[in-house]
Amino acid sequence: MTELIIPKDLFETILDHCRTARPNEACGILAGRGEQVSRVYAMTNIEPSPVSYFMDPGEQLRVQKEMRERGEEMVAIYHSHPQSPAYPSVKDVTLAFYEDSFYVIVSLSEGIVNGMKAFSIVEGTVSEIPLTIAD
Ligand SMILES: [Zn+2]
Repeated sequence: MTELIIPKDLFETILDHCRTARPNEACGILAGRGEQVSRVYAMTNIEPSPVSYFMDPGEQLRVQKEMRERGEEMVAIYHSHPQSPAYPSVKDVTLAFYEDSFYVIVSLSEGIVNGMKAFSIVEGTVSEIPLTIAD
């Protein structure tokens, strides 16, 4: 996988979730196949904070089961940075356990979306991945 493709309507769904979660970080799972995202699972941040997130493990298990049943893969994990740029924090890198998934970060500033970027994080190495918003 060398890029990530998100349909425009799902892109809007992600942005809405990130705006709604302010001032805290939003988090969720992007499911699909290969490079193509086909579904957004908005997840509960059980440790609400403006600088970090923690997904509900029970909810995550349910979503993973649902993805298996639908034949979907966990293409990416997304979260928002309500007050900082779209780049993984030290904690994000430390907690990046899914080397086969991408990490998508949405940056907000005063409630306005600043940007969305996708990364692969493998053994502490962060690489930006081209992100396409498809019509
Ligand atoms: Zn982060």
